[in-house]
Amino acid sequence: MHVFERGWLSSNNILFTGREGTALVDSGYVTHAPQTLALLRHALNGRPLERLLNTHLHSDHCGGNALLQATYACHTAIPALEAAKVAAWDEDALSYRATGQQCARFGFDAVLMPGDVLQLGEQRWSVMAAPGHDPHALLFFCEAEGILISGDALWENGFGVIFPELAGEPGFAEVGATLELIGTLDARVVIPGHGAVFSDVSGALGRARARLDYLSADPVRNAQNAVKVLLKFLLLERRALKLEALPGLLGSIPLVERVRSGLLPMSADALAQWATAALVKAGAARIEENMLVDV
Ligand SMILES: [Zn+2]
Repeated sequence: MHVFERGWLSSNNILFTGREGTALVDSGYVTHAPQTLALLRHALNGRPLERLLNTHLHSDHCGGNALLQATYACHTAIPALEAAKVAAWDEDALSYRATGQQCARFGFDAVLMPGDVLQLGEQRWSVMAAPGHDPHALLFFCEAEGILISGDALWENGFGVIFPELAGEPGFAEVGATLELIGTLDARVVIPGHGAVFSDVSGALGRARARLDYLSADPVRNAQNAVKVLLKFLLLERRALKLEALPGLLGSIPLVERVRSGLLPMSADALAQWATAALVKAGAARIEENMLVDV
């Protein structure tokens, strides 16, 4: 098993090679797809990629699917509850339009459901539901080795934005239940969707529960976090953004507009100023003349 640790624009990619065939879990963001393919080609050393699986279908986890399918015609399995949306390529339902992100259209050959057992590498992996960050997200757990592929349900420090809550759907309780489930697995090692592989699983669970308590105590905090994350994602994608364009740019993201008409009522200008200041304060961006620049 090889873990390609990427960054925040592209998710990590987990490649299985071995006698049982080759398989990849998650494929990164679309603008990084050529880099994903280059990493794979190097590690595969002439072998084809036979299978592709996704923990969930956010743009930073499946943006390389189309290129990998075009290159390898790999058998692709996606979460079952997303199948109809992918078949119809419904970009609204798939979150790409709502978040202002891009994803190249891909297809699928099979679906993944909680309770499924997968053969990846030489091990058996159980598929489990991990709602919260994304209602249809999945975990892959190898009991024999104690390895958990957690997607964005658990990182070393926290978890992904709780998107359902932004649209008035429940998410906090689901995150709590998913963390509880992970706690019962007794995982030795976690391969998260972003960041380094880690082994202090109880420490990470403690930090995630504290973060959940903080966010759920006041849903405005989750909305603020989401706006910051969506702006940072845009910045990662484009490297630099004109300050004067930010209100319009944020205003073109339906999820931000939804938040602005609900949890964060303020003008588009005020929200852009607030989000800019928040990223700069967090050390995630800096201002250079009239540009917001990625750090
Ligand atoms: Zn995600």
